Amino acid sequence: MAKRVESPSSINTFKQCPRKYYYSYIEKLPTVPNIHQIRGNIAHSTLEHFYDVDVSKFNLENYEIEYKKVVQKLLLNQWNKYTPKLDGLNLNKGKINFYFEETMFMVMNWCNHFLKDIKSLMEKENISIPEAFMRLTPIREQKYASDKYSIRGFIDAIHHYGDEVHILDYKTNSRFDMKEPIILQLAIYSLLYQEKRGVLPNKVGIFFLRHKPKYLNVQPEMIELAKKEINAIHTHTSSTENIDDYNKKITPLCKWSTGQCDYYSTCKPHGK
Ligand code: SF4
Repeated sequence: MAKRVESPSSINTFKQCPRKYYYSYIEKLPTVPNIHQIRGNIAHSTLEHFYDVDVSKFNLENYEIEYKKVVQKLLLNQWNKYTPKLDGLNLNKGKINFYFEETMFMVMNWCNHFLKDIKSLMEKENISIPEAFMRLTPIREQKYASDKYSIRGFIDAIHHYGDEVHILDYKTNSRFDMKEPIILQLAIYSLLYQEKRGVLPNKVGIFFLRHKPKYLNVQPEMIELAKKEINAIHTHTSSTENIDDYNKKITPLCKWSTGQCDYYSTCKPHGK
């Protein structure tokens, strides 16, 4: 059986519940769209486009307010672009407004961090706004794929600060926690980066949009972790596509107070 192409997300799904992996990646059952996914996409697109803005007219008197206006406008544009999908969720107007405001809070929080960074860079290096903006602009939404490990991933932002490379992923999670799946995702990005560029990134991290960024120094152990987990999933998924070989892992993630696994009704983990 040919090796499947995995991703941090498919590996984490497998580790969470092999049956969920089966439904999602082998049977390819459709997922149920939800507000968290959609607003996550909206926030990502907002930040991705932020760095395309023309800053030639910004000056020291107006740049803070102008950058804030840019973020607000971008979020509004993206929100409008996603209106058909948001409408499809059948949420009431109050709920949609709540999520819009919450997402606005997140991107504005991100913008405040950006403003601190650009201010400190301009002061430290005595450079102009466009120059500092250019230096802070990351490589965005870059696809990294490895034939050797049969894995791929999309990296939100790769920053070059002097000689250092920092890889960053944006998350709208409420918890400010580097849990196991996040560490594995970042370890896989480090491995992919190393394979493509020949060097390890110096730091990998998450910008928790409700909070602040959190970074880890990249250590060789992270690369070993990524290789071990990639190898483990290939060993399993390349040997069988039989549903019975993908066990149900019944946990509180099957069903919780406000939602359920996308495949709950097909899987029936708790019987009828
Ligand atoms: S409902 Fe639970 S057991 Fe079934 S696929 Fe989802 S997570 Fe796995």
